[in-house]
Amino acid sequence: MSKTVWMDGRLVPMEQAAVSVFDHGLLYGDGVFEGLRQYNGRVFRMADHLKRLYNSAKAIRLEIPLSQHDMGEAVAATLQANKLTDSYIRLLVTRGIGALGISPATCSKPSIFIIADSIKMYSEETYRNGMAIITASTPRIAAAALSPKIKSLNYLNNIMAKWEAIDAGVPEAVMLNPMGFICECTADNIFIVRDGHLLTPAEESGILLGITREVVLELAVAAGIPTRQSNLTRYDLYTADECFLTGTGAEVVPVTSVDKRMIGDGKVGPITRQLTSTFHHYARNIGNTAAHSAIAAREKLPTGG
Ligand code: PMP
Repeated sequence: MSKTVWMDGRLVPMEQAAVSVFDHGLLYGDGVFEGLRQYNGRVFRMADHLKRLYNSAKAIRLEIPLSQHDMGEAVAATLQANKLTDSYIRLLVTRGIGALGISPATCSKPSIFIIADSIKMYSEETYRNGMAIITASTPRIAAAALSPKIKSLNYLNNIMAKWEAIDAGVPEAVMLNPMGFICECTADNIFIVRDGHLLTPAEESGILLGITREVVLELAVAAGIPTRQSNLTRYDLYTADECFLTGTGAEVVPVTSVDKRMIGDGKVGPITRQLTSTFHHYARNIGNTAAHSAIAAREKLPTGG
């Protein structure tokens, strides 16, 4: 079935959803984006995603010509047009059309695109039994060069690490910061469990502040699991009792080996199991109510009914 894409205020069939070759989003990766998830007709943590998008835009001096309120409505209109209740939503804001040089000053109007599609996650088998990952030799770009907090259209740094994962025959690669501390995977945040404590790299490690990461930390605290955000090394990963990744698409996915070192006993550990199922339930039910998704409620997003 043909999909409908929201492009600069218009809903168009996907065949007509074409971008100019002069758009600096294409020419230079000059733009920002978000990946959101819709569960049971409601967008999960929409306010958080919009806040991150607008902060990313602000950081690169890109003024989005739409209020967060109107952006929420545009997302709702896209979901309605595609008759979706459970989907993955990609929201992009590019610098727009300009001259061939890199100067963003030649781009007068940012372009906005909203694509909604079905979700591609890891296999059932992976959620049950975990997966192997590697650490990449490609370092995460230094926060002083370009903050990883900016979810920009420049994913080449991550793509270089993703090649390493592909070459190693595993789905993900962990990237280290220039100091050698663990940052995150190419499209997911990382957690380990050690002696009953849940540990994840801190903001200062130079990571994208994942929204799933934040929810998992909240759920862990609510479950009485002690949490700590700190610098972690490869040693910490190799000797962890448990390990898992988090992301909007992946949710919570267990890792059972890193660089050929078995994590714990090689089976998905109890805290990972608990958080995987708690998150799964929370995202689809309790956490996905008006109280937790204020903008979604205000915007009267489709309820799926
Ligand atoms: N790190 C990177 C580099 C990512 O691209 C993503 C996916 N957006 C994440 C972490 C996870 O973030 P979130 O939970 O907000 O999807």
